[in-house]
Amino acid sequence: MFSYWEKKNFLKYDFIVIGAGFVGLSTAIHWSRKFPKSKVLILERGIFPNGASTKNAGFACFGSLTELLDDFWQMTPPEVLDLVKRRYKGLESIRKEFGDRTIDYRPSKGFELIDASQLDALDRIDEINGFLKPIFKKPVFSLVPKRSRFGFSEKIKEIVQNQYEGELDPGKYVEALWKEASRLGIKILTGVEVLSIDQDEGKLLAKNSFSEERIPFEAEKIAICTNAFAKNLIPDLDLEPGRGLVMTTKELDFKIPWKGSFHMDQGYVYFRKVGNRLLIGGARNLDKETEQTLSNEINPKIKSHLIQLAEEIIFPGKSLEWDLEWTGIMAFGPKKVPIIQEIGKRTFLAARLGGMGVAVGWQVGKELSTLIRKRN
Ligand SMILES: Cc1cc2nc3c(=O)[nH]c(=O)nc-3n(C[C@H](O)[C@H](O)[C@H](O)COP(=O)(O)OP(=O)(O)OC[C@H]3O[C@@H](n4cnc5c(N)ncnc54)[C@H](O)[C@@H]3O)c2cc1C
Repeated sequence: MFSYWEKKNFLKYDFIVIGAGFVGLSTAIHWSRKFPKSKVLILERGIFPNGASTKNAGFACFGSLTELLDDFWQMTPPEVLDLVKRRYKGLESIRKEFGDRTIDYRPSKGFELIDASQLDALDRIDEINGFLKPIFKKPVFSLVPKRSRFGFSEKIKEIVQNQYEGELDPGKYVEALWKEASRLGIKILTGVEVLSIDQDEGKLLAKNSFSEERIPFEAEKIAICTNAFAKNLIPDLDLEPGRGLVMTTKELDFKIPWKGSFHMDQGYVYFRKVGNRLLIGGARNLDKETEQTLSNEINPKIKSHLIQLAEEIIFPGKSLEWDLEWTGIMAFGPKKVPIIQEIGKRTFLAARLGGMGVAVGWQVGKELSTLIRKRN
């Protein structure tokens, strides 16, 4: 039941974006910068973004040595180079746009822990540095000389350093996007789930949590930016969800003797310090099928693997007290390339960020907004 005033003022827009993660917020911002008078609405089912944007580990990275070597199995060399460039330039652009202090970006470097089974990868450091030269001009990867200073287990034979990676605070990044959206007059409604879309007519039906009543919104253009959840609205999309677990310890009673973004196991496991806590996540590869889900449960097998890595490899012999654990849902496809496309006369989509949305979400939003503008 809507009032005359609600119907007149709240249901019709020039542009509606579904999903308020990095991509949805970025799309709306880029659109509003081009069309400042446009009436823009973002609909988000959570109170905060509830997919991956505030659930990730805050890694500002573009691929560890073994991850890049693994990419060559699925992608051509030009595709791998393009992917690294996209991620690195994406990170540079958000740093420039919002400022390091605002998003708490730290250029603390990336590190990869190499065990005995991965030592072959070290023979390819020079080759990969040469391959990446068109982007970085200088060598990206090098061996850390005194690995003992990190105090990792003896099982770690070498550590590879990446001088161009860093860390950021994804919550602060979202806050920066909120602030910019608000400056541009973009309205964000949270707790509203979109149930269906008429892709050609620019109509959609949504609901909120306290009523079963359908809310009929209308817009000239609609952008679906719901990443892993996009299949709920467009079932035949070529993407699969991938759940990622992240955990933090309580503040530790000893000082963590390292800083930076750390990777293990071809990038599947990652850890860093936040305050004086260990944050560790990943290991989706341990139970890939179970993790292809939209549900936010904790997989006990993955949890115990991460705890074991923390207590045996990262801080050998230490018993850690754990505090928080959460999951975020990413979207993957056959290749690490996002889908950015028109899917109806008035409807467009950007999804399948492949675990790279911290790095490329802002740019993907720009590309989606440009695509829609060109079809205007
Ligand atoms: C554990 C983890 C680690 C990661 N590590 C990295 C990393 O190292 N580097 C990197 O670059 N990226 C990383 N990522 C990926 C990155 O966080 C994502 O790619 C990015 O957040 C995707 O942004 P998005 O806006 O496309 O999607 P999301 O953040 O998922 O946003 C989609 C939004 O749509 C909303 N929504 C869904 N359905 C509906 C509906 N029907 N109606 C209304 N709203 C809806 C959701 O609630 C959600 O807020 C990681 C992610 C996770 C979970």
